[in-house]
Amino acid sequence: MGSIDSEQETASGGSDWGPRGTAAATFAARLSFENITHVYGDLEAVRDVSLELAPGEIVCLLGPSGCGKTTLLRIAAGVERPQSGRILLNGSEIASASAFVPPERRNVGLMFQDFALFPHLTILDNVMFGLRNLERADALREAQAALRRVGMSQYEKSYPHVLSGGEQQRVALARAIVPRPAVMLMDEPFSGLDQRLREVVREETLAILRETRASCLLVTHDPVEAMWMADRIAVMREGRLVQIGTPTQVYRAPADISTAKFFCDFNELIAPARAGKVSTPFGTFKADTRKEDGSTVVLIRPQGLVPTTGKTGTQGTVLEVRYLGDATLLSLGVHGCERPIKARVPGSIVPQKGETMRFKIDPDHVLLFPAASATAIGARDGYQE
Ligand code: ATP
Repeated sequence: MGSIDSEQETASGGSDWGPRGTAAATFAARLSFENITHVYGDLEAVRDVSLELAPGEIVCLLGPSGCGKTTLLRIAAGVERPQSGRILLNGSEIASASAFVPPERRNVGLMFQDFALFPHLTILDNVMFGLRNLERADALREAQAALRRVGMSQYEKSYPHVLSGGEQQRVALARAIVPRPAVMLMDEPFSGLDQRLREVVREETLAILRETRASCLLVTHDPVEAMWMADRIAVMREGRLVQIGTPTQVYRAPADISTAKFFCDFNELIAPARAGKVSTPFGTFKADTRKEDGSTVVLIRPQGLVPTTGKTGTQGTVLEVRYLGDATLLSLGVHGCERPIKARVPGSIVPQKGETMRFKIDPDHVLLFPAASATAIGARDGYQE
């Protein structure tokens, strides 16, 4: 794709974005999902999901492929009708057993991964498309202002095929915001962009969403993207809502092992808990004593292994070294651990294979779960004795 030179494309997705604070604002709405279930044939794609977006809130639906994120978004858009449950916009039913407001009357803006610009329309006409109810002069003024805000005014008369991916994304954003939707629904909007460009486009999109004050439901399978964008993250798995919370809550206190592992790579140890304490080769951790003792899963993030000097700490033999510049990834042989242990240490530390090192554990990077239930037990209470 694209006519723009690659240096500009990498830096900002084209030329400069417009001044911040100039996107037209809307009256944000409260979007509520109540006990939504949706079935395709025999497949329950969404199962009893309840979720509420406060006005102006950005909620990211996060989960692996096929967990029902897009289905939920399509239901909010009005493209699918749920088999049971209700969708409300500011308390009014827009989808239920007895009500159905068609997509074009919901005041929602849509943005999808493939941008979906009309190839036969100019950039300006693409953006004006959503303003067919306005007088042409008004529509022109609004569309031009939106294009200015995303920094794409100079392409008004061009057609989509001459634009790069980043530029098409910006036009798609202008087209989505120009009717001033109360709710924006975005499905993997940045996944077609390369990583550095994605960060710029994400940052600018976030600024524009805040300016418009629209509530936003954004689908992603990328935990970093969710943490970057979201006020709250709704974690989905197999059609169910597993957990909802701020990025900090979901990352630090995940509801279960699968959620924890979705956000981060872990070392996984299994050890018995006795009297609320779990002994591992890295020391003893305190579990929540209100729960019964039993086999416990101890998850330790690679960055939770902190190299120490002197004679304290657990000893490991360096098996593999991967230098990444700002960090070094180590694979370690540790007495008492069946599998190699992963450590992520500062890039200033680059040991040789076969060297021995000592590590203490940062308790902020330890999570404990009872092996049977796979639900967290006092993960934030974990400490090393
Ligand atoms: P992805 O990230 O891959 O898009 P997702 O989490 O958005 O996944 P959905 O697209 O909502 O998941 O799909 C949920 C399940 O429903 C999947 O198993 C999918 O194959 C199935 N599904 C989705 N749309 C249809 C359809 N129109 N007909 C039949 N099955 C469908």
